Amino acid sequence: MGLIIRSSAIHAAGCYTTAPIAKGTRLIEYTGPRLNKERADELYEMKPYTYLFGLGDGETVIDGHCMAMFINHSCNPNCEAEEDENARIWISAIRDIAAEEELTYDYQLYDGEGEEPCFCGARHCRGTMYSREEEQKQYSSASARLQKNKSGAGKKQNPAPRRQRVAAGIEKREETQNIHRRGRRRHMEENISASAAD
Ligand SMILES: [Zn+2]
Repeated sequence: MGLIIRSSAIHAAGCYTTAPIAKGTRLIEYTGPRLNKERADELYEMKPYTYLFGLGDGETVIDGHCMAMFINHSCNPNCEAEEDENARIWISAIRDIAAEEELTYDYQLYDGEGEEPCFCGARHCRGTMYSREEEQKQYSSASARLQKNKSGAGKKQNPAPRRQRVAAGIEKREETQNIHRRGRRRHMEENISASAAD
């Protein structure tokens, strides 16, 4: 099995397989330095792009520095991200994947500010990379703000600094929650050359 990074129709660069992959195959680990959430916030407060993947403990994030960080989001993905019992994140195939296909999983972004439109092209694309729960949350807080403004109570609020960092959540199907935090791409070419040099 060979995974390669090349330009993607979905977004910038993506991760492709050069050989067919059977459903259930564990493909690649999402690795990088582990930080606590506060530290990650400090580091990425002002940065537009991040590759943060939050673990189920709700405290730790992986600052992606690996091939897996290039895997794009899709609303109809062929892979999923799962956290194992040792708090390691693995990307696995959820269906048979043909050679030359791009690998994708559902980012389920959360904790973000700003829009994260999805261009995955899936038939039932939900139009955003945020999770449904996060969409709901953002919708509710937007209506709350609207209510406040109507009553004049919100007028004096300073606009919050725009945090472009995006966080994503992947929910494991069962008991534990896998939280996946990541954002858009930065310095893609640099990253690609770094991976190629590895
Ligand atoms: Zn989509």
